Amino acid sequence: MEQTRNRTEIVEFECPHCHVRVKADRDKRGRKGFCPRCNYIIRIPRD
Ligand SMILES: [Zn+2]
Repeated sequence: MEQTRNRTEIVEFECPHCHVRVKADRDKRGRKGFCPRCNYIIRIPRD
């Protein structure tokens, strides 16, 4: 079994509103999402 968890297509960024760390699927970058903490609409950065 491989343990290459770093290969996971996840992008991590900071909510500009409440500054919590947010994770999202990499294929959603450039799109909008909701912060799980404050529900602020955030754009997922293109890394
Ligand atoms: Zn937030």
